[in-house]
Amino acid sequence: MTLERYQQKRRFSATPEPRGRPPRRTRSARGGRYVVQRHRATALHYDVRLELGGVLVSWAVPKGPSLDPAARRLAIHVEDHPLEYFDFEGVIPRAQYGAGDVIVWDWGRWEPDGSVDDPEAALRAGELKFRLEGEKLHGGFVLIRTGRHGAAGKEFWLLIHRRDDEGVPDWNAEKHPASVKSGRTNDDIAAGTHG
Ligand code: MN
Repeated sequence: MTLERYQQKRRFSATPEPRGRPPRRTRSARGGRYVVQRHRATALHYDVRLELGGVLVSWAVPKGPSLDPAARRLAIHVEDHPLEYFDFEGVIPRAQYGAGDVIVWDWGRWEPDGSVDDPEAALRAGELKFRLEGEKLHGGFVLIRTGRHGAAGKEFWLLIHRRDDEGVPDWNAEKHPASVKSGRTNDDIAAGTHG
């Protein structure tokens, strides 16, 4: 895992995003931190990031994660992000990659399901079952790769809450708009309002 793609896409003289230190390979841990950032770019999406192997493995989820087990959320795999991105909140200036505003929409811990031997191998194989314990998200989830699309070979995955006690029918991320870091919304961040 490397930050090359992350760093190539950005001009760190122009964006407040962290450059990130070279990832230190850690032994494949039994989980770690996760963060979900609500990113209002050209198109609104939620970036779901799992700490794994010294980086934040990341997916862009246009409709956001849901606690509703009936919701199958498209999750587009994107470049690994540095661990320093974990609590990034701010405005990415116009004309920069990902221009728009970002809040820390949820954070907490993730751990692979008991059936998962090696989470990195599970991701390479295209299916990871895991648990989230955050401020908004709870319970079992699965990420399943459904295919690759386009010339760039983008990987399309689905993010689905498993049918467990922590599922909540009709749960919609957009009804929970405040940052868990600052209490601010994307509008507050865009307006430069401090909580
Ligand atoms: Mn994004």
